[in-house]
Amino acid sequence: MIKVCKFGGTSMADAKAMNQAKSIIESDASRRYIVVSAPGKRFKDDIKITDMLYKCNQEVLETGTCEKSFSIIKQRFIEIVKDLGVSLDIEEILNETQEAIEMNKSADFAASRGEYLSARIFAAFLGVEFVDCAEMVRFDRHGKLNDDYTDDKVASRLANVERAVIPGFYGKNFQGEIKTFSRGGSDISGSIVARGVKADLYENWTDVSGFLVCDPRIVPEAKVIKQITYKEVRELSYMGASVLHEDAIYPARMANVPINIRNTNAPEDPGTMITAEPAYSKIDDGEPIITGIA
Ligand code: ADP
Ligand code: ASP
Ligand code: MG
Repeated sequence: MIKVCKFGGTSMADAKAMNQAKSIIESDASRRYIVVSAPGKRFKDDIKITDMLYKCNQEVLETGTCEKSFSIIKQRFIEIVKDLGVSLDIEEILNETQEAIEMNKSADFAASRGEYLSARIFAAFLGVEFVDCAEMVRFDRHGKLNDDYTDDKVASRLANVERAVIPGFYGKNFQGEIKTFSRGGSDISGSIVARGVKADLYENWTDVSGFLVCDPRIVPEAKVIKQITYKEVRELSYMGASVLHEDAIYPARMANVPINIRNTNAPEDPGTMITAEPAYSKIDDGEPIITGIA
């Protein structure tokens, strides 16, 4: 049994959240490949690391350095490493990262460093191998994911790796430069890894207990959808239900890997299962015939 787990921004937001993710991973030996986002918001008006990294690139373009914006990022990662108690020369890694952002002058490169740093730290914390998605995920000359190349690379790179932490969100373009997916793209990376390793399940760990019938920010009492098809979820995502990136369905679906949306803060909740077949029994159960509204 192989499970690929993707932990989103709130699940990587600070040491407390990372500890929670660690206990989820270590409670099930089949959770072998972990795809992570950059640290997201810790509270309502907090700023995501990814947003700050775009700001760094802006600062580089305007002034030649990102001293000012990057110092906030530095502080946040140093605090995480200190609170986790991992032995990693994070200051050195951060200095190299700042230099690389200043040299590259690329928004995609800058943005990708959030996932890169998050994965480096989380791999050290779990005591497992860090595998860079830049080695595996390729885009073609039109900017589209090169599915065949990527799938082969994921399969061969991870074939003899028992457990790994892999950054989400980016890969390389046909010229070998770092390129990201669109925002929220770590969901796609998780799905690509799940397909490549022929996982039995792709668990997408976030801050809600599954796909809700409506956006909980609009309807707070919205109920969790227990089961939904790939097709239905793609339509809901496309229409604006932002829990899962709309392009995250395709790779998992191709390999027939079910997707389970789970809540890092409520791991006992079963979440939402996304599968190929519609759950006809829903009607017998007295469940609504309308699956969701976006
Ligand atoms: P992550 O950082 O883990 O990828 P996201 O913020 O991308 O998490 O997605 C989870 C968020 O999606 C939830 O916190 C919720 O506010 C929002 N959301 C929008 N529509 C829905 C829906 N129908 N069901 C559940 N969550 C939804
Ligand atoms: N960190 C990226 C973003 O904020 C990608 C992701 O979290 O999925 O969009
Ligand atoms: Mg997301």
